[in-house]
Amino acid sequence: MDHIDYDIDLTSEELDLKAAAHKFAKEVMRPAGIEIDRMTPEEATAPDSLLFEVLRQASELGFNRMGAPEEMGGVQVPTPRAAVLINEELAWGSTGLAGAIALSSTHATIALALGSSEIVDEFVRPFFSCTDGSIIGCWAVTEPDHGSDTLGVMQADMAVKARGQLIARLDGDDYLLNGQKSAWISNGPIATHALLNVKLDPDGKLDQGGICVLPLDLPGVSRGKPLSKHGVRAMTQGEIFFEDVRIPKRFMLVDQNAFAPYMDIHLSLFNAGVGVIATGLARASYEAALEYAKQRVQGGKPIIEHQSVRARLFRMFTLLQTCRTLSRGVFIYNGTAMKRGVPVKLEHSIASKIYCTNSALEIATLGVQIHGGNGLSEDYACEMFLRDATSMTIADGENAYLTQLGASRL
Ligand SMILES: Cc1cc2nc3c(=O)[nH]c(=O)nc-3n(C[C@H](O)[C@H](O)[C@H](O)COP(=O)(O)OP(=O)(O)OC[C@H]3O[C@@H](n4cnc5c(N)ncnc54)[C@H](O)[C@@H]3O)c2cc1C
Repeated sequence: MDHIDYDIDLTSEELDLKAAAHKFAKEVMRPAGIEIDRMTPEEATAPDSLLFEVLRQASELGFNRMGAPEEMGGVQVPTPRAAVLINEELAWGSTGLAGAIALSSTHATIALALGSSEIVDEFVRPFFSCTDGSIIGCWAVTEPDHGSDTLGVMQADMAVKARGQLIARLDGDDYLLNGQKSAWISNGPIATHALLNVKLDPDGKLDQGGICVLPLDLPGVSRGKPLSKHGVRAMTQGEIFFEDVRIPKRFMLVDQNAFAPYMDIHLSLFNAGVGVIATGLARASYEAALEYAKQRVQGGKPIIEHQSVRARLFRMFTLLQTCRTLSRGVFIYNGTAMKRGVPVKLEHSIASKIYCTNSALEIATLGVQIHGGNGLSEDYACEMFLRDATSMTIADGENAYLTQLGASRL
């Protein structure tokens, strides 16, 4: 019952890239992901943390620079499918580290798509020409009092009226930023740069926002304690505070007129990405359970020979194959649509995110049960997979809220 790739015609170039990503995932990310998972948040974010070494190696190999123009230092992937194959492998290695690597390019990727040539010189070229992983981005949208609220703003009926906790006020040729983002900002404690959602009209609805890019070493920026949490612990998270932080007008990449349509595209791309990451995690859980079921003997034979164990493995296998088909299709469709300038389909990305993260959670739960008591022990990675899978049902929008958002598009 080995899972297979239904894309039977993967090119040799795609297969080579997938193999290179798998090697890095297996030899570096899986052991490092487990080690960082067991660190305190302070240890994980300390300057000598293994996390930085993984980010350095990922950058050296180009896994954080895929798709950007080569003349800027980007690494070309031959097809959108190759990008999916690589990301699934990285997530197979470690959900948390795959997230940290993917998010590290957020500010540069969006600045490349939306910024002026000045912005490209200030934020994009430095990131893509950096090969030591020392430039780290994040996407800061969630606020302590506004989680789900911040995501459905592209739907007029879901954009509520609220003050918002990070206000950008025009002051001459600059914006002054005041407020904070919540402890859930992935890479928040270690990021050097941010793509930051702000509220432009303090008294308007939450769709009266903007998106800016900025370095996080400006006067007035500070961080909270790194968050101690349940899953994806290798992707560190924490609050970012802004007190009279002054940025030039040109850093505001999206104003309130473009904000809602921008968020539609942004969530489409990010939810599609989470679907792929969840598929890698689902595969890691399935493979671990299959391997264990072949080794563990109970009732006088390997437990895989018991009908109830086989039935559970078959359920996991079915979910995994479906996850891969859906997540790959959606990622390629919406990624290609965006590049061609045709409308992306948010509801498909939401469907992929919900289906793949819920399936990863079911697979990880069954994986722990197949391990019996051992499944609850830190000696087996399936315990971490289950915590990671639970977390992914909330990342990038909690699944019940996203269901409501997706359903409102029908
Ligand atoms: C692993 C992980 C990574 C993350 N990474 C980032 C990141 O990089 N950057 C960032 O900014 N944020 C990040 N987040 C935050 C994440 O986007 C939010 O946690 C998520 O949007 C939910 O917001 P909340 O936690 O405030 O929950 P709430 O919005 O308070 O939701 C609580 C419950 O109420 C329900 N609910 C809320 N609103 C409605 C409604 N209108 N109708 C019906 N039900 C509703 C929800 O479905 C949920 O069950 C991350 C979170 C996790 C877990």
